[in-house]
Amino acid sequence: MTDTISSSAGAGPMPIPGHIDPVPVPRPGIVEGVTPREDGRVDLMGLPRKRIADLFESAGLDLKAAKLRAKQVYHWIYHRGVIEFEAMTDIAKTMRPWLAERFVIGRPEIVEAQHSSDGTRKWLLRTADAHDFEMVFIPDADRGTLCVSSQVGCTLNCRFCHTGTMRLVRNLTVGEIVGQVMLARDALGEWPKGRMDFAFGDGVDGAEAESDDEDGGYSADGRLLTNIVMMGMGEPLYNFDNVRDALKLVMDGDGLALSKRRITLSTSGVIPQMARCGEEIGVNLAVSLHAVTKDVRDEIVPINKKYGIEDLLQACADYPGASNARRITFEYVMLKDKNDSDEDARELVRLLKQFNLPAKVNLIPFNPWPGAQYECSTPERIKAFSDIVFKGGISAPVRTPRGRDIDAACGQLKTAAEKKSRAELERLYAEKEVALG
Ligand code: SAH
Ligand code: SF4
Repeated sequence: MTDTISSSAGAGPMPIPGHIDPVPVPRPGIVEGVTPREDGRVDLMGLPRKRIADLFESAGLDLKAAKLRAKQVYHWIYHRGVIEFEAMTDIAKTMRPWLAERFVIGRPEIVEAQHSSDGTRKWLLRTADAHDFEMVFIPDADRGTLCVSSQVGCTLNCRFCHTGTMRLVRNLTVGEIVGQVMLARDALGEWPKGRMDFAFGDGVDGAEAESDDEDGGYSADGRLLTNIVMMGMGEPLYNFDNVRDALKLVMDGDGLALSKRRITLSTSGVIPQMARCGEEIGVNLAVSLHAVTKDVRDEIVPINKKYGIEDLLQACADYPGASNARRITFEYVMLKDKNDSDEDARELVRLLKQFNLPAKVNLIPFNPWPGAQYECSTPERIKAFSDIVFKGGISAPVRTPRGRDIDAACGQLKTAAEKKSRAELERLYAEKEVALG
């Protein structure tokens, strides 16, 4: 039994290079992958069962108790959306304050919440160390989609994307990613309210069954939040481990319990991570193609200089789990006189067929932002483009822009909406390209 957070949890006394601490000083608030809090308590949000158990053990529980409590707490956090230990009715009353002194169950702080006239909602969120990022909820007749961020800013610089005009501040942690989904469920009031559907029966707590509905309320039927897209700020495959671990919690039957078929990860084409995405996460893939020639894609999606179109399409053809039933979505932003000709549309069909891809194409009308150097294609052009792709045998719906009145539309996520001059933007893009190598 120890009274510090042990190194098994990735922390413990911090070594100071070139200096030997005569008395190691425990720093209980520092746990790997968890943003430290000023009050020194450890945020459990984003941690899997095993790490919660390790933390409980390090805090003084014996192994068996730590495992049991971790299992209970995990269920309350991810399946029930509870943020107060006091509300965990199957945990002994005396144990709850002990937990609350040492741990918290955090949520990203809400800086601002906006509601669009079309029902779209946008939240400006803040991490514990004061970085802002955004999340959007888009309700439709048959589904509700949460657009989740993976990074604060982005290292890439797609020329039509507002997030691309930000520097990368940092990757979001697992807790900050899954915390977005939790927060959306809080806001939509969508946590199951029913009784616990398992009992631990350790004889101490006397599990108090709630009984406010018969089936435990675990069904997803009628929920507003049905789908998740990793299409907020950032490139999810550049924050692979955290995105994977967060989505695992989202998909876990004892966690948020959302099917992997309802989750889509969008990438600008980070080829080396794509196979891992299929193997280790198994969600649907969307690829930001946006152009069919090297020249144009090099310009508008500069990662193309590193990972070209043909290699990208080959990686898509190899994507584990892709099939006609689970097609890959190719996103294509419609930019006037840039990538929107009939010839582009025909080339798109040819390429997708050449690689024998189970594909659908999502045509996204460009959302302009202050300082952007492109315009959106005309509705007639978009229609003509869509028709050609459709006649080529590939579905090519046009995505309706949503939440434009609150700047929640695709690619507009940017917290500090300051306008940069053309020269400043060029400098930033040049720096990013150097960093990309
Ligand atoms: N970084 C990832 C996911 C986030 S962007 C990616 O690039 O795929 C989500 C989608 O919005 C991408 O397809 C992106 O290209 C598109 N997008 C970005 N800016 C846009 C804009 N101004 N108008 C329309 N779509 C945009
Ligand atoms: Fe980054 Fe995606 Fe925007 Fe490109 S489109 S700059 S990858 S967020």
